[in-house]
Amino acid sequence: MTNKEIAGWFRRLADMMELHGENPFKIRSYQQAYVTLRKWTDPLSDLTLEELAEIPGIGKAISEKIRELAETGDLATYRKYANQTPEGVIDLLAIPGVGPKKVRTLWKDLGVESVGELLYACHENRLIELNGFGLKKQADLKNKLEFYMLTKGQLRYPEALQVADRVKALLQVADPGSRIEETGELRRKCPVIKNISLLWCPQEKATLSAEEGWTFVEKTPAHWIWQEEENPLVTVWITTVEGWGQRLWETTGSSAYVSSFQQWTNPLAPEEGTFMQLANLPDHIPEWRESVDWAQAAAKREGDLITTSAIRGVIHAHSTWSDGIHSLEEMAFTAKESGFAYLVITDHSQSAFYANGLKPDRVKAQRAEIATLNSRLAPFRIFHGIESDILYTGALDYDQDVLDGFDLIIASIHSQLKMDLPKAMERLLAAIEHPNTRILGHPTGRLLLSREGYPVDHKKMIEACARHQVVVELNANPQRLDLDYTWIPYAIDCGVKIAINPDAHSTGGIRDISYGVQVARKAGLGVGNCLNTMSLKEFEDWLFV
Ligand SMILES: [Zn+2]
Ligand SMILES: [Zn+2]
Repeated sequence: MTNKEIAGWFRRLADMMELHGENPFKIRSYQQAYVTLRKWTDPLSDLTLEELAEIPGIGKAISEKIRELAETGDLATYRKYANQTPEGVIDLLAIPGVGPKKVRTLWKDLGVESVGELLYACHENRLIELNGFGLKKQADLKNKLEFYMLTKGQLRYPEALQVADRVKALLQVADPGSRIEETGELRRKCPVIKNISLLWCPQEKATLSAEEGWTFVEKTPAHWIWQEEENPLVTVWITTVEGWGQRLWETTGSSAYVSSFQQWTNPLAPEEGTFMQLANLPDHIPEWRESVDWAQAAAKREGDLITTSAIRGVIHAHSTWSDGIHSLEEMAFTAKESGFAYLVITDHSQSAFYANGLKPDRVKAQRAEIATLNSRLAPFRIFHGIESDILYTGALDYDQDVLDGFDLIIASIHSQLKMDLPKAMERLLAAIEHPNTRILGHPTGRLLLSREGYPVDHKKMIEACARHQVVVELNANPQRLDLDYTWIPYAIDCGVKIAINPDAHSTGGIRDISYGVQVARKAGLGVGNCLNTMSLKEFEDWLFV
């Protein structure tokens, strides 16, 4: 069990105990354990009781629970509460922004025991008079519930890939050496996956016994549809060696894309490329096959299509100076070892107190550390950036003299996200117009499948970036992927460069760049339209003109 998974159990336990109105001190200690354990770097499963008890804030009781989790994969205390809680009420706890206290009121005072019941109660205005709610909170909750229902049964790309890998492993056991590949949305590298599809060519008639946790939804000679718990449906398309090329092409594109082409003569081909040639189909890469118009526009775009290996520098990373897990030295060392030529470290600015943002004296101290590291790591170079909060007024987060000292400023909105369109645009445009802003960070603030983000007029925003030569970030964290890739073509047309930034909060987070590249490829982004494909020299010239 990973440290994050172990930590997650304590968060859920704390929620569950709060739901049942237990002792607040105990609840606080589990919440604290969640925060501490999440960031712990040594693998907790390998530590003894004595070693665990030495972690600050982790006493005997929590240490024993960690051992229990490592040994059994379960937590009896959690089970005890779960057994006394309707399943639908546990579902309510999973809705972002609702929280155990409110769920308790809804459950105990209103008798609501599922998401559907709660949505209905909102329709009936039953929350207006309820303690701690009211008209505004009811409307807000209704939005959250509708978003939850809409996105239920979907997964972000990395998690969907994990489900697909589990299915692949089962198929390999059923027929060792058989050919299996991802197709459909996974092969198109969609940020959010509604259906997981695999193409399988068994060597002989293989059968599968039902695995625990999986149910068969449909089973025909041509395909099987499975489901694992609440996850998206998994379709396994079954084909032959000669039919592979055609079936891979047919199952990869969206139905709109595939149905736009005339019937072909079913040429047999064991590879997709050969099939496409024989059937006279356009040479569109899988990522583009959302619709014919989309693919044709992407194919027309100039320059070499972006690849992960074309990225030369890491822009947007956090260290222990603010809310990162690893030190500046560790971040720089990893970036260098991974073959990058430069790192722009951008810890949080002073208003981000929750993330240990940097006051001006710590900005100075960090600059001194960067200078020391740079003399050691040359020719690799660390640039001193900051991720400046865009304040409610639209201003950046330091006095002008402090702002002037940074090599690069990413301006991002992190607080007071509940805004209408005019307010959001006022803040964004003010930040874009600020002469010190070089990159606009995660422009909509969305978190895929968990937060919609504030409303943005994308055209206006991108046009303002063009006027003020501000680069737009494609935040590569797979939970964000913000700017949405569908807006990249407009940015390219306006002459706005895209920075594919990992927003790394640990050394491992640097690898998220590949998720950003994946969706940038969907939009046909060329190497020349991306900021961090610049060599160190080019990047220095861009920074210090
Ligand atoms: Zn941020
Ligand atoms: Zn950040």
